[in-house]
Amino acid sequence: TYNFCAGPAMLPAAVMQQAQAELLDWNGQGVSVMEVSHRSKEFIALTEQAEADLRELMSIPDNYHVLFMHGGGRGQFAAVVNNFLGNDGRALYLVDGSWSIAAAEEAIKLVGEQNVDVLNIVEKDNNISRVVVPNLSGIEQDYRYLHYCPNETVDGIEIFDELDSPWPIVADMSSNIMSRDIDVSRFGLIYAGAQKNIGPSGLSIVIVKDELLALPQLPQASIMDYRLAVKHDSMYNTPPTFAWYLAAEVFKWLKGKGGIAEMAKLNTQKAQALYQFIDSNDFYETRVAKANRSQMNVTFYLKDESLNEQFITQAKEAGLVALKGHRSVGGMRASIYNAMPIEGVEALVRFMRDFAEKISR
Ligand code: PLP
Repeated sequence: TYNFCAGPAMLPAAVMQQAQAELLDWNGQGVSVMEVSHRSKEFIALTEQAEADLRELMSIPDNYHVLFMHGGGRGQFAAVVNNFLGNDGRALYLVDGSWSIAAAEEAIKLVGEQNVDVLNIVEKDNNISRVVVPNLSGIEQDYRYLHYCPNETVDGIEIFDELDSPWPIVADMSSNIMSRDIDVSRFGLIYAGAQKNIGPSGLSIVIVKDELLALPQLPQASIMDYRLAVKHDSMYNTPPTFAWYLAAEVFKWLKGKGGIAEMAKLNTQKAQALYQFIDSNDFYETRVAKANRSQMNVTFYLKDESLNEQFITQAKEAGLVALKGHRSVGGMRASIYNAMPIEGVEALVRFMRDFAEKISR
């Protein structure tokens, strides 16, 4: 079975096998990793290795902290606001799809409309969505940060260009973290819910520049406080230990695969195979401009949408699951994160070709 679920998503088979083999006896302890103290030296060693591996994989500079927190992606929607806006701060939210809207809405809920500016950056032309980022330096406003989502999981829109921002950039990389190389030093904070390229849901990874921790904070739940998380090595309370362990295994797996640069080549190859096929016939279409087609979440439509149910059912029978698009946008979505092998994409293209031929006959 190839699982195209947008999240929680497929994990690398090798990692799952390893986890299965160690489930009842981790690290020679005679118990599961879920059952050992997070303060034991064995578990601390795991967390140190996980951080070191992540730092190496993403070339994270020393003036950035790496945090393993609770609360997934949405937890960070709130944490960013509470940690950075204080009583008098203002933020700018760029909107390129459903998740950046949700992040902006959370900010508005917490600090009010007067403190959150929202800027739509998607233009639609003939039903094709394209990202157009205005000149941000031309905006005369002192924002604490600019928030954006470089990969919109639901819409299949990705922003590949680096933004030029006069304010620290906060990026929700939940669905494209570690899919390609990025320059961490261009960001103030990067966060990601783990359940796409990292591990099980619930965990979130936060990479934050040291100087941002000096910003005035709003009163907030202690477990979402970045300064406390830094001070306590992400263990202010009991962390999601099993998720952390699996994340550590995924980082090792990624290193074994040659790191992010190698993964990026594969991701480009997978996405191109799928988009090229979609472009090559009249049966399917995408509704995203070429420059913004996500390498992680390929959204596409059958031109005759009355065939949708048939497509989903037959795909499932062929071992290709979770292809239904998000309910808000319809159509289909193939999420092809790091763990999806090229063979999965090839199987999908074969199925799509056969399906189209059968119907057209
Ligand atoms: N941001 C993005 C880009 C996402 O894709 C998602 C979930 O799919 C979230 C945020 C929300 O994450 P969570 O469900 O972990 O809160």
